[in-house]
Amino acid sequence: MRFTQYFIPTFKEIPADAEVVSHQLMLRAGMIRKLTSGVYTYLPLGLRAVRKVERIVREEMDRSGAIEVLMPTVQPAELWQESGRWEYYGRELLRLKDRHGREGCLGPTHEEVITDLVRREIHSYRQMPVNFYQIQTKFRDEIRPRFGLMRGREFIMKDAYSFDCDEAGANRSYEIMRETYQRIFARCGLRFRAVEADTGTIGGSYSHEFMVLADTGEDVIVSCNQCDYAANLERAEVLPPAEGGPPAVAAAVEAVATPGRRTVEEVTAFLGVRPDQLIKTLIFLADGEAVAALVRGDHELNEAKLKRFLGAQQVELAGAALVEEATGAPIGFAGPVGLKARIVADHAVMAMADAVTGGNQVDLHLQHVHPSRDFKAAGVGDLRVITPEDPCPRCGGEIQFSRGIEVGHIFKLGTKYSRAMKALFLDENGQELPIIMGCYGIGVGRTVAAAIEQNHDADGIIFPVPIAPFDVTVLPLQMHDNDVVAAAEKIYAELQAAGLDVLLDDRDERAGVKFKDADLIGSPVRVTIGARGIRNGEVEVRLRSAAESTAVRLTEAVGVARRKVAEGYDSVK
Ligand SMILES: [Zn+2]
Repeated sequence: MRFTQYFIPTFKEIPADAEVVSHQLMLRAGMIRKLTSGVYTYLPLGLRAVRKVERIVREEMDRSGAIEVLMPTVQPAELWQESGRWEYYGRELLRLKDRHGREGCLGPTHEEVITDLVRREIHSYRQMPVNFYQIQTKFRDEIRPRFGLMRGREFIMKDAYSFDCDEAGANRSYEIMRETYQRIFARCGLRFRAVEADTGTIGGSYSHEFMVLADTGEDVIVSCNQCDYAANLERAEVLPPAEGGPPAVAAAVEAVATPGRRTVEEVTAFLGVRPDQLIKTLIFLADGEAVAALVRGDHELNEAKLKRFLGAQQVELAGAALVEEATGAPIGFAGPVGLKARIVADHAVMAMADAVTGGNQVDLHLQHVHPSRDFKAAGVGDLRVITPEDPCPRCGGEIQFSRGIEVGHIFKLGTKYSRAMKALFLDENGQELPIIMGCYGIGVGRTVAAAIEQNHDADGIIFPVPIAPFDVTVLPLQMHDNDVVAAAEKIYAELQAAGLDVLLDDRDERAGVKFKDADLIGSPVRVTIGARGIRNGEVEVRLRSAAESTAVRLTEAVGVARRKVAEGYDSVK
């Protein structure tokens, strides 16, 4: 491709409304342009990167035995009413009405549509296992779309849905996808981790997220330094404290006035105790019932864990009025002793011997509280957020926290949709059973954005070879020098003939402008042809990821550039 015949509208300034680096760089490198909130046009360079990710995804999905289909964007409301999600999905579902008044939506996901297809077409165990996938544009009406392609409203996704006769088959399908996803992200040239995850709004029993590691990532990943355990922060399990025999019984409970002291900091400072000597009592509304959840003062309650522990559909922190109704005191003075509400406690709380808690009375706390002596917990479990001091829940080893960007998510769905929508099949014994499903997503545009978050410097993008819009940029520095232009044209033609994606910057621009754009666009390999070098029969080859360039013989330039690109592919095989 010749720059002068192409469309790469780059610019220097950092765009004011772009908060994250991938969004800034994709705008500056001329990869995307915003149409309206959370909706983008892919310009040629952005589209090339997207297509490269799509190609890897398609090849690996096909290799796994999955079958490509393409489902509609507009979906009828009836299907969503059947699955029960029409009510449940909330306002992220963009609903619309056609000219006949029929309701529908723009699909944010396709469980309903594929389940409808399968219930019409698949009736026997002989037709399974089967896994259908598509690469398609989806729409989710995010309340605060931001970060460019990282969290848009319209986005390109690969979604796949597996259908199996039994649990063992469903597990096999899941494992095949887990391995396929490993290959996909490795082939994209990304550093990533598969982590255990929470199932969220899609539902189901088991899931893994694929996280591209990047310091700028929004998600926190917990991983073990000794074994292969990895989970997202929401999910990471905390082991109960080691059994060290029952803690010594403290002195009798004693009430102490704590005028105006509500927070952990205020109470511990006032009483001269450490945060790990205090019990935090948080009042939640779980499916309409008030529940008191207890965690140690230095720990943080994990709402996802609490929700799972209670088996509740909806869990939310109670407001001031409800706290007062449940405890008899304003927020900041709740405590488990004498409390009427149902109490659930984190493991660490029950291992405390001499604790401070709220006294369920304004300006009052209790000292010397001994949990199993002074109150009863209806349930004790893992309710808190893991800390870097906690051991690995699998092997007891040391854990570390890192940051990542979710680019893929795989779920075991079970029979949630097949039961609701009556997708049934006959097994070998002629018995009618619900089909067992799994679903598997990859954010295609998001993968490109995450790749940029992981691979950039102050000058621009450093594309991994497999998803770079162009493998090589050929940079003639003096467009009025016939030798320079002739050498550049020759290298360009030969690299293209070798099957590489090559950008020839044939603009009559200053060298500085061309260098800056080349760095911004981030082709992995750059071949620079200058007037001085060409007199000595030399050109420069530089890797975008390396600081220095190498002078090579003009006759060897094509070979060296090809070898560098090939190495970029080899390193991720
Ligand atoms: Zn471990």
